[in-house]
Amino acid sequence: MREKRAGQRSAVLFHTVACKACGAEWMSDPAIRVACSECEAEAGQPCRWQRPHGYGFHMRRDLLAMREGHLSACDALTWDGRHSRHAIAVTAPVQLALL
Ligand SMILES: [Zn+2]
Ligand SMILES: [Zn+2]
Repeated sequence: MREKRAGQRSAVLFHTVACKACGAEWMSDPAIRVACSECEAEAGQPCRWQRPHGYGFHMRRDLLAMREGHLSACDALTWDGRHSRHAIAVTAPVQLALL
């Protein structure tokens, strides 16, 4: 087993979204498909308000997305039924071409 990956680096290809509680995963956050009534972000735009550290949509936007069927309720027992989501960077190894 080689722990060091000499000569190999990772590049971020894109981000997916996953729930920390139940492990559900999305290519992009389902809540973004609805407009936010809280900060007036349009569909497709992230919430203008961001948590100081990290990731978040307004709760009402989540609830609206759930009501419209874009977002399922979380299987894990979160306090409000919302998925506890965070962004995951999908990376690919970059081979250094040493010619
Ligand atoms: Zn918002
Ligand atoms: Zn979940």
